[in-house]
Amino acid sequence: MEQLNQLITSQAILLFCYLLGSISFILGLKMLSHPDSARKGNLVAAVGMTIAIVATIFLYQKGGEHLHNYGWIFSGLIIGSVVGTMAAKKVQMTAMPEMVSLFNGMGGACAMLISIVEFHNNANPSMGMLLIIVLGMMIGTISFAGSIIAWGKLNGRIKDKTLPAGQIINFILLGAIVVMAVLLMGNFIDAPWLMYGILLAAALYGILFVMPIGGADMPVVISLLNSFTGVAAAFGGFLYNNPVMLTGGILVGSAGTILTILMCKAMNRSLKNVLIGSFGGAKAGPAGAAKEQGNYKEISLNDTAVLMAYAQKVMIIPGYGLAVAQAQHACHELEKVLEDKGVEVIYGIHPVAGRMPGHMNVLLAEADVPYEKLLEMEDANDQMGTTSVVLVLGANDVVNPAAKDDPGSPIYGMPILEAEKAEHVIVNKRSMKPGYAGIENDLFFRPKTSMLFGDAKKVLQDLVSELKQV
Ligand code: NDP
Repeated sequence: MEQLNQLITSQAILLFCYLLGSISFILGLKMLSHPDSARKGNLVAAVGMTIAIVATIFLYQKGGEHLHNYGWIFSGLIIGSVVGTMAAKKVQMTAMPEMVSLFNGMGGACAMLISIVEFHNNANPSMGMLLIIVLGMMIGTISFAGSIIAWGKLNGRIKDKTLPAGQIINFILLGAIVVMAVLLMGNFIDAPWLMYGILLAAALYGILFVMPIGGADMPVVISLLNSFTGVAAAFGGFLYNNPVMLTGGILVGSAGTILTILMCKAMNRSLKNVLIGSFGGAKAGPAGAAKEQGNYKEISLNDTAVLMAYAQKVMIIPGYGLAVAQAQHACHELEKVLEDKGVEVIYGIHPVAGRMPGHMNVLLAEADVPYEKLLEMEDANDQMGTTSVVLVLGANDVVNPAAKDDPGSPIYGMPILEAEKAEHVIVNKRSMKPGYAGIENDLFFRPKTSMLFGDAKKVLQDLVSELKQV
């Protein structure tokens, strides 16, 4: 009787811990939606996850037995914590997107491994359980393989490659996965290798599906892979009947799906195109390639300072170069100096600027730029006509008019920040080199545009000194 009471008490505590974990995930996610509370939100969710993990290790019971294998469990925990902490501490701000991709891939790999272990642990699984195992493994493996390719692409180790008949191969792979899953679940053939066949086909699909994606379409794929990992983790939650794993997986899966839809909208792509892997940067034909552009003109720091000091409204359009230069604090300084001179300063934020969703918001929040000054693309474009000076700061693809004018361009169809509608356009970058999509930008050669060359941080610091003397 006493033993039964103990069991009931420990299971009640376990469930309570899971409830705390689930609530912390929901609160954390809510807090992540605003830069002011985002750090706290991350911490709240991490505490919830710690509670859930510790409770599982010490309170979870199956068939009256606690978990054992503590040596393995704690070795994994310690190695994972040390590697994760070191990676997160050492990572350069510019390498953050790659790290996020890699971590996302690890989540997919976990779901894959859980499915393999549970497949071998259950001698006679029901059809429902097999379905969950197969789905968790398939989606987890696609997310793992795809995220590793995305990681390679973001750090430049892997180049966009389109296989001839790549789409057909993708369909064949998906077909093969379905056939093998049906054979396995219907018990038509008693062959455990079918499970590994599904794993192999899913891994190939993950690789081939992400491989051709380039140009400016990576953000959509990154958020899609994110949602895949969430869904795969949710299947793990079903498998273990674990409510906190289920909640966590569903939250990541649904948040990732919403982000995917938003990114699709931002890129003007349909989700169907993303799912069948039919878009890509590899279609950059002659029209998308570099072409003779004519001359560009340069502007001096002094002239830029004068132009800005007497402007009514300045819009800063930040891009990936801001992250490279770590110029967010200098940028905030410029904004304050201009405002002291009575100039209105706003920021135009493109949804895919930088290398990860929300990249610019994170950077500018770090420098305490007031959130109300950050305008989303549509609002920024509405204000472009009344803007005296646009300062394009380390951005390129997100202001490239080829997205509107050149049907052969790999970014054709992507909405852009229409910098040219402002009175003056000043572009700061280090050279005339292209951005992520690898294409020329006609904006730099247009009559309204002046180039201000140099590293963004140095240029901004010098500009602030000049402005103080105007
Ligand atoms: P881009 O990559 O188009 O351009 C960045 C520009 O910054 C470059 O042309 C570079 O020119 C300049 N730059 C680099 N370092 C510095 C520096 N130290 N100081 C000043 N300038 C610098 O960036 P955008 O933000 O305009 O566009 C983002 C691109 O990345 C899009 O194509 C998007 O699709 C893609 N992408 C976005 C993801 C996301 O989730 N946001 C994920 C993956 C890809 P130079 O070398 O001459 O200085």
